[in-house]
Amino acid sequence: MIPNNACSALKALLDDRVKFDAPMSRQTSLRVGGPADALATPQNREEMAQLLALCSQHGLPRTFLGAGFNLLVREDGLDGVVICTKKLRRLEARSGPTVFAESGVSHASLTRFCVEQGLSGLEFGAGIPGTIGGWMAMNAGIGHREQKDVVLEVESISADGVKKKVLDSAALGFGYRRCAGLEHGAVALSALFQVRPASPKKVKAEVDRLLGQRQASQPLNAPSCGSVFRNPPGDYAGRLIEQAGLSGERLGGAEISRRHANFIVNQGGATADDVLGLIKRARESVRKMSGIELETEVRILGRISG
Ligand SMILES: Cc1cc2nc3c(=O)[nH]c(=O)nc-3n(C[C@H](O)[C@H](O)[C@H](O)COP(=O)(O)OP(=O)(O)OC[C@H]3O[C@@H](n4cnc5c(N)ncnc54)[C@H](O)[C@@H]3O)c2cc1C
Repeated sequence: MIPNNACSALKALLDDRVKFDAPMSRQTSLRVGGPADALATPQNREEMAQLLALCSQHGLPRTFLGAGFNLLVREDGLDGVVICTKKLRRLEARSGPTVFAESGVSHASLTRFCVEQGLSGLEFGAGIPGTIGGWMAMNAGIGHREQKDVVLEVESISADGVKKKVLDSAALGFGYRRCAGLEHGAVALSALFQVRPASPKKVKAEVDRLLGQRQASQPLNAPSCGSVFRNPPGDYAGRLIEQAGLSGERLGGAEISRRHANFIVNQGGATADDVLGLIKRARESVRKMSGIELETEVRILGRISG
């Protein structure tokens, strides 16, 4: 619950760019989850800094939202303010050559831009859905290629909205699906990527090849959050879940995909509890079968009832 004086301050700052009691099922790709106390969408960097300062003054918890492709919000909803970055969308080629992208730029826009401009190096991101901010926080990638290999620096603002910093790759502290430099409430405002000139035709061919691979191996026709679990060292979570006999396992409207067992898909009407129930089943079965403790890659947020 946000106190009345804080609600008024949010309204005064953001007008209709803040919504109260906002269902997170509309903001996440799994299409499940209860309401956030408030959903705020600042229109530029200055407003982002003011919003962070306001939240800090009123002691409001903050959660950053890119495009919600890696978030699972519990049924009982989320305390505090969800801060959406989608209006930060500047995207430009710079010298080097490099590409500058604000945190709300979508993966699809970045990929299209690189194809049009004939800039190579970021093709591996084709088909990893989300925003630049989400990509940074998750060090998103495929196989052995991740953001840490292509990002030169990230601009950020501290949790209290006061300190602006430029983090180089050492300060970002990228790890397997994590970025230590963004783990203490700082928001990523933009990233600068290293690229190299190439023919647009060649860049497009590689993008198309990777998109085709995804079409063939992932259940892209139903809502999901991508890989639910991190791969344990030397193995694949999907292989272990499949071996445990859980492909096609259902709970309510949620199903462990037959096409890729590390995906849980919403087959219609699933709740966060259905998805969490399948996560529990998968962990228990894999533990029993192999002794391996699966850890979630999807970020699970929200109130725990009871
Ligand atoms: C079909 C499908 C396929 C996928 N394939 C892959 C894949 O191959 N590789 C891979 O790595 N991932 C994959 N994912 C997961 C997802 O695409 C990535 O995790 C992506 O980085 C999420 O971006 P987002 O903008 O949606 O982030 P969100 O889900 O909105 O947020 C993810 C995390 O980032 C934080 N965050 C978001 N923006 C900011 C910001 N500006 N500053 C600070 N923190 C921020 C959030 O608070 C949250 O903790 C897949 C998902 C789907 C649905």
